[in-house]
Amino acid sequence: MDKNKNVRVRFAPSPTGYIHIGSLRTALFNYLYARNTGGKNILRIEDTDQTRLVEGAVDNLVNSLELLGIEFDEGPDRGGDKGPYYQSQRLEIYRKYCQELLDKKAAYYAFETPEELEEMRRMQQLEGRQTMYDGRALNLTDEEVKANLENGIPHVIRLKVPRDEEIRFNDLIKGTIKIDSNVIDDQILIKSDGFPTYHLANVIDDHLMEVTHIIRGEEWITSVPKHILLYRALGWEVPVMAHVPLILNPDKTKLSKRQGDVAVEDYLRKGYLKEALVNFIAMLGWNPGEGEEQEFFSMKDLTEKFSLEKVQSSGAVFNVDKLNWMNNSYIKNYDPERLLDLSLPYFRDTGVDVSDREHTMKILLAIRVYLNKLNEIPEHTKIFTQDKAELTDEKLKEYLTAETTKTVFSELIRQLENTEVLTAEIYKEKINEVQKLTGIKGKLLFKPVRIALTGSENGPDLPSVAEILGKEKVIKFLSVWT
Ligand code: GLU
Repeated sequence: MDKNKNVRVRFAPSPTGYIHIGSLRTALFNYLYARNTGGKNILRIEDTDQTRLVEGAVDNLVNSLELLGIEFDEGPDRGGDKGPYYQSQRLEIYRKYCQELLDKKAAYYAFETPEELEEMRRMQQLEGRQTMYDGRALNLTDEEVKANLENGIPHVIRLKVPRDEEIRFNDLIKGTIKIDSNVIDDQILIKSDGFPTYHLANVIDDHLMEVTHIIRGEEWITSVPKHILLYRALGWEVPVMAHVPLILNPDKTKLSKRQGDVAVEDYLRKGYLKEALVNFIAMLGWNPGEGEEQEFFSMKDLTEKFSLEKVQSSGAVFNVDKLNWMNNSYIKNYDPERLLDLSLPYFRDTGVDVSDREHTMKILLAIRVYLNKLNEIPEHTKIFTQDKAELTDEKLKEYLTAETTKTVFSELIRQLENTEVLTAEIYKEKINEVQKLTGIKGKLLFKPVRIALTGSENGPDLPSVAEILGKEKVIKFLSVWT
């Protein structure tokens, strides 16, 4: 285990108004790595694309991550000595370093209009060449550049990519990557609106914030060669790179909205428990190692066991059935009081009187084994609130009209009428009594009762159901068939 106290990692989202499952995994891996190594976890908001800003997005992001147990040591809402942590508040810093790049001839001004660039692209396409900026602004003399700037001609600043060079780097997860510099575009560093692009701001901030390990999604790996050129030009050390594999749909395409939800908030709203979500997300691309069967990890376990070496390099499939199974396991084993607190919003509009906590708890404990997520509470609660046990299948009537059923029901009603309150225990005693007195047992005894009380052949433990329904309702539902 890398117990390096100097580890500094960062989660650097561009807030879009919701947290993508992939972002959550990146945030989680950074957090786990920081906690595992005793390092620092930094939140940096990459908000230089002014057209994409969403109001309230940062608060929402921080709140959701904290709710899930992902904490930051430095960031917009908690400060730190490497701030500001909003890129939009660091524009002067980017300008300064961009000037250094210009002075070192590692970057240059370019004045083409959008039409000229479009024409360039069109010609390249016609000629079957790769579409990229052709470096024509490099032909301008210093005087021409100066005159253009003085005349206020709109411009961008571009990275000067050296040609005919192989750029290599070693990624902790993906291994050695080599890229031919001839396929790298002269990336825009400062846009015509004066704002930096992701590439410039990201490199400068990672350096100034003393980030030691860059842990992020695989989709950023193609940006690394450009970043390496920037680090090199500025004379800075390149942080350790660790690109985590893509998250895939079951059909192996990139996780997309079309095949299911991608927003973490949607999963929370549906009633996936945060512990289950974190456990599941952690295992998208990571596992504790060969031969380790363990599948359930608390956040504490994860921080102890997590290592970048155990992150796999190939895509990780997001299997919602597995998530459901895992969530169901968490629900079944959760502390009842806490589960009830989390469940109360889902009981709203079910007709259950949630002010009666004891009663609501009984229902929850009876149904929890069936819940993959808490938003399934209403459908499983119906049997406790209906005034008439609606049959889920007309065929079930056969059981209710069987000859033995009348005998069973009449005797059970008689037994129950003699009790004051109906508890699960008393129900068990009474049904045994019925068996003894009528000689009817097994399926012929139990099944009709279940169907009469719930309308269905299977479901929660019947004595508990009887207790929750209460004496009156049980007698009423049985009487229908006597
Ligand atoms: N702002 C980028 C994003 O939205 C950050 C990528 C990176 O971590 O370098 O994911």
